[in-house]
Amino acid sequence: MKKTIKAAAALLLSGLLAFSFAGCQQQETGAGDSTQSSVAESGAASEETSQDASEAADTEESSIDRIKAAGKIIMSTNAEFEPFEYMDGTDIVGIDVDISKKIAEKLGVELQINNTSFDALTAELASGKCDFVAAGMSKDPTREESVDFSDPYFSATQSIIVLKDSDIKSSEDLAGKTIGVQLGTTGDQYCTENVEGADVQRMNKAVDAVSDLIAGRLDAVVVDNFPAKKLVANNSDKIMMLDEALTGEEYCIAVPKGDTELLDLINETLQEMEESGELDEIVGNYMSEE
Ligand code: GLN
Repeated sequence: MKKTIKAAAALLLSGLLAFSFAGCQQQETGAGDSTQSSVAESGAASEETSQDASEAADTEESSIDRIKAAGKIIMSTNAEFEPFEYMDGTDIVGIDVDISKKIAEKLGVELQINNTSFDALTAELASGKCDFVAAGMSKDPTREESVDFSDPYFSATQSIIVLKDSDIKSSEDLAGKTIGVQLGTTGDQYCTENVEGADVQRMNKAVDAVSDLIAGRLDAVVVDNFPAKKLVANNSDKIMMLDEALTGEEYCIAVPKGDTELLDLINETLQEMEESGELDEIVGNYMSEE
C-alpha cells in the first residue's frame, strides 16, 4: 500500500512541481458537498462533545464501541491548509475532510470536525478532546512521543515562497533572513534548526505570513509544498515558489497513543481508498481546482 501511495504522490509531486499556476482557472470541485450535512463544525458543538471523548479516554472501554455508541467521531484539524483542509464559506472542506468522512462512514457514524490551531492538535488528541487528527500532519519523532500515526497517505516537502524579484534563489540564501512559518509545523522546525542566523517569525496562519511577505515585512515564507502552491496561485503576480524541496515528509493521521483499534480501522480505510483509486480521485479533485 505504502509503495503505491508513495508512487502516486511522487507522480503528482513531479507533475505539480512542473505545473505553472499563472493564468490557471479556479473551479468549483463540489467534493464534500454531498455529505456536508453530516459534518458539524467547530464551536459550540465540539465544546459539548469534547467532554464525552475525554471521559471515555480515561476508561478501558473500546474506542470503537464508544464512538459507535456516541454516533459520531470527532476529528480535529486546522482549516488553514488548502487543499488538505480549508474554509469554503462556512464549510470545512479538503482532502483530509474527505478521508475523514470515509473513516466515519466505515464506522457508521457522523463526522464532527473540530477546527483549532495547528500547534494545539497533538495536545488535544492526547487529552481526549478528539478521536483523531487529520491535518496534513507529518510523521515526526517528537509527535510520536504523544500520539500514534497511521500509515502515510501523502508525501510532501517544505517549500520556499519569495517575492518575484527576491535575491533568495535557494535554501542557502535563507541564512540571516527574516522567515515566516506556521507555528509548530515542520517548516518552523526546519527553519529553527537548519537556517543559520534566521529570524524565524512564527504565525498561526501561513496566509498571514504570505501577507507579511507581500508587505515587505518578511524575506521568505517556508510552508508545505501543496499549500504553498495554493498560496502562490492566489498572489501569482507578486510571489513565487522556489523548486527546491527542503525536506521529505509523510502525512499521516494521528490517534491517541495506544489506540490500536482505531488505528487499524484508519489504516484499513486508507488501504481500501488507495486500492480502489478513491484516494487518487479525491486528491485529483482538489488539485484540479488549480
Ligand atoms: N506538514 C506540516 C507539519 O506536519 C504542516 C501541517 C499544517 O500546517 N497543517 O507540521
